Amino acid sequence: MNLLDQRVAETLSSTGLLAQSVPGFQPRQGQTDMAMAVSRTVHDGGQLVVEAGTGTGKTYAYLVPVLLSGQRALVSTATKALQDQLFSRDIPRLVEVLGLPIRVALLKGRSNYLCLHRMEQARHSPESAQPGAQKALAKIETWAQSTRTGDMAELTGLDERSSLWPLVTSTRDNCLGSSCPRYRACHVNLARKEAMASDVVVINHHLFFADLAVRESGVAELLPTVRVTVFDEAHQLNEIGVNFLGKQLSTVQLHELVRDVLATGLQLARGLVDWQALSAGLEKSARDWRLAAGMHRGSVRLRWSGQHPEGVEPGEWDAALQAVTQALAELQTGLDMVSELAPDFQRLGDRTRELMQRAALFADTPNPEGVRWVEVSAQLRLIESPLDIAQAFSALTRPVAAAPPGDADSGALLGPDVDPDSLEALMAADPRHAVGDALAGPAVGVGHRAWIFTSATLGDEPSLRWFTEPCGLSSAEVMQVDSPFDYAQQAALYVPPHLPRPGDPAHARQVAALVLEALAILGGRTLVLTTTLNAMRSIGDQLQSQCEGDVEVLVQGQSPKRRLMERFREGGGLGDAHGRMGCVLVASASFWEGFDVPGDALQLVVIDKLPFPPPGDPLFEARSQRITQQGKSAFADHALPEAAVSLKQGAGRLIRSETDRGILVVCDNRLSTMSYGRRLVRGLPDMRRLEDHAAFLDALRQLTTGASHLSA
Ligand code: SF4
Repeated sequence: MNLLDQRVAETLSSTGLLAQSVPGFQPRQGQTDMAMAVSRTVHDGGQLVVEAGTGTGKTYAYLVPVLLSGQRALVSTATKALQDQLFSRDIPRLVEVLGLPIRVALLKGRSNYLCLHRMEQARHSPESAQPGAQKALAKIETWAQSTRTGDMAELTGLDERSSLWPLVTSTRDNCLGSSCPRYRACHVNLARKEAMASDVVVINHHLFFADLAVRESGVAELLPTVRVTVFDEAHQLNEIGVNFLGKQLSTVQLHELVRDVLATGLQLARGLVDWQALSAGLEKSARDWRLAAGMHRGSVRLRWSGQHPEGVEPGEWDAALQAVTQALAELQTGLDMVSELAPDFQRLGDRTRELMQRAALFADTPNPEGVRWVEVSAQLRLIESPLDIAQAFSALTRPVAAAPPGDADSGALLGPDVDPDSLEALMAADPRHAVGDALAGPAVGVGHRAWIFTSATLGDEPSLRWFTEPCGLSSAEVMQVDSPFDYAQQAALYVPPHLPRPGDPAHARQVAALVLEALAILGGRTLVLTTTLNAMRSIGDQLQSQCEGDVEVLVQGQSPKRRLMERFREGGGLGDAHGRMGCVLVASASFWEGFDVPGDALQLVVIDKLPFPPPGDPLFEARSQRITQQGKSAFADHALPEAAVSLKQGAGRLIRSETDRGILVVCDNRLSTMSYGRRLVRGLPDMRRLEDHAAFLDALRQLTTGASHLSA
């Protein structure tokens, strides 16, 4: 056992620093096992994948060895909520308890920071003429005087979806980088410099891939190079990565270019070029192009394996794309005429050229190695992406040859919009970078990078292939840590035998009837997860029209997720000692994960049907096709594991603490009648089965009595 292992084991033991200082901390075998595996990986380098069941305490299991090692580390999460929790709660608490001289930074994507240059231009944009915009801008300008970080989260009352948000924040497309007049005071750059000077940086997966994408282009790096990288909520890596590593062109990008050209042109070069005419030309071509994709209800994805997307009229599509290219070329000519006047025009010119290159890419046939499709809603979005991140990621996580201490850190720099001299000096002058080796001792494997991937759900079988294969981690060490919860005592599974098959028009109505029956007993405390928005609306409408008494029906989309979750947590139910009104929440998509309601506020999770990937999804189809070409079964090796992982995530909403009790209802009797149902059930925690409706109603009644477990 090396020094780091010893310190980790001591810290997590019953007499260790955590037991002495953190109220309620108790050693848990699963947590210690995971922490020791992380410790070994940090020490020796390599890749470790850990599926840690709910309640393991995985955050401390990776933070303790990483912080004690003293190595520079990135900790990446999928959501801003977990990012904030790590930065504001978990890491500061551990740093204090462990007494470590460690500097920690939080780094978000650039759209989360005020852009001083764009804020100064915002009053000239057409959006600023909208009602209330001047007042909101004045508020932002006042806040801008006092903020140290420029983090837009500090600014209350301005929603991310507001049309003012993009006017006062930047994108990679519109940032002027080192040519910007506000470059020295720029909040984005200051946040990155702070990250560069820190020992631990908390980021999110989007930022990680944004960095990877710009590194691949050879242009820049956004994040420090570190020895240890931890991905929490790692199950989302592949989908987020595929999005970033692909190429996209959208009518939104065209409309945003129009908006920025008009604002900049009219402010800095009025009368020199006919900005109105050029903008109107591009705007019209973008609208016509959207029309060429045809009329569709809601949002659809069109497959695109040949020269054109499926279902479009080829001549009309080609003409529309040609018109967009032509309008971009005319705009380019106008921008070139004034490019010497301000760096803003040079950046707009670069952006226009980049969009023309994208238009040329999508005028050509798709890359056979990837998948291409179009998303059609009120806007058009063309996407060509790799099928997974395996190639990009395996190259990245491959072991590197040992390097002398300091090499990896000093090569870590930012890109065109950061002053390299000041950063180099900053890092060289910072003694904290010596902390790691001092703490961990000479045994730490300097030169070997450690990659740790963790989540509560990374597959439905012990090899965790569902996660490792698309991420290119086939040679990673894999480990599963069981949840410490006693599912057999705390939870039960019911598959109603009497419901029609999903797809039957009566199915949603009968699911709603079952929920109403349960609500009459529980008085709330119920989460209904649907696989489609249609089912969500249908079940939500029926509950809203038929729910009687003291149950509030919440439906996804009524309020932001955080607000719905807060309301749900406050909810009571029958037998609530405080007389609080109970809640039922009907939701889809993002609520299958990250919805965390411990305690009695949630006791029943109803899933409408088995969450197989939607047929007709181009990415899913292309992946299935590749699996078939490899001689495997698209159903058994792709669709089924996808469904198993989603089901496990949905079911994971039910039991969130040692004292929770609850029932999972899956309204899809294929789980009982089809042979693959057994595999899906095996992927779930080991719950007691309720065989019939009477047993289900009886178990519901037990939940209202406060019994400590669900008896047979
Ligand atoms: S450098 Fe970019 S993000 Fe920073 S103020 Fe200038 S335009 Fe905005």
